[in-house]
Amino acid sequence: MFRLINVHDRAALHVDGVVVDLAELSGDPALADPMVAVSRYRELHEFASRAAGQTSGVRVADVVLGAPVPTPRQVFAIGLNYREHAGESGMDVPPAPLTFAKFPSCIAGPTADVPLSGGAVDWEVEIVVVIGRECSYVNAEDAWDVVAGLTLGQDISDRVVQFTGAPPQFGLGKSFPAFGPIGPALVSLDAFEDLDRIALWCDVSGERMQEATTADLIFSIPVLVAYLSSVCTLYPGDLIFSGTPSGIGAARGRFLVEGDVISSGADVIGELRNRCVPGRGSAATTPA
Ligand code: ZN
Repeated sequence: MFRLINVHDRAALHVDGVVVDLAELSGDPALADPMVAVSRYRELHEFASRAAGQTSGVRVADVVLGAPVPTPRQVFAIGLNYREHAGESGMDVPPAPLTFAKFPSCIAGPTADVPLSGGAVDWEVEIVVVIGRECSYVNAEDAWDVVAGLTLGQDISDRVVQFTGAPPQFGLGKSFPAFGPIGPALVSLDAFEDLDRIALWCDVSGERMQEATTADLIFSIPVLVAYLSSVCTLYPGDLIFSGTPSGIGAARGRFLVEGDVISSGADVIGELRNRCVPGRGSAATTPA
């Protein structure tokens, strides 16, 4: 079992509440790179158990963490993957995973500030799947074998940009800077009691907005991996935002404002805490 974190752009393990630098622990300088560490996820169990019980030094609580997977090659996201969320969005349950991309430049750390691109920016807490090895045509029954672990994410969405034009193209509205905070750790699969029932929730400035478990997913994580890998080759560090439960702002008529704090949490994985700050619009937020 391991919890992989990113401390000042170096891969580290979170062991007994303490930061353990992975390159120092292993004696392998290549493992300082968080993306290399993800691709070698099978070795991390051994390193984590080697460090257990003999840790001292900087406490994880005292450092600012970066994204555990800072530069994924591909970031997939799934729309309408919880039944109640499809309902609140006024959409039918899709016949296949409704897939769009978040551009990787939106990925940010677990406590990153989120600059607001406009007046209709919304929250979407999601369990994020981290691919561990290059693969294609993976069967759903084998899908967990290609997963390095899970993390938590926010699929922050500018609803105006997301729904501009017909048919709307979701990518840009979900890809402003820091619209994809993830973390606080990439957690190995063996840390979870039940991989098909992971609780997740989202509070905005202290008000509970979303709460569900992944048992409510329409397309399960293994089905998503099988589906996506039947089209795209998947690479180590690729992310799959697996969909958000009901309770988004668009359905409540309430969007994020400056000073709001988005607190997202999930069983085992931990919490994200993202403050909304002034941003600037773009040509996309004010279409001609
Ligand atoms: Zn989403």
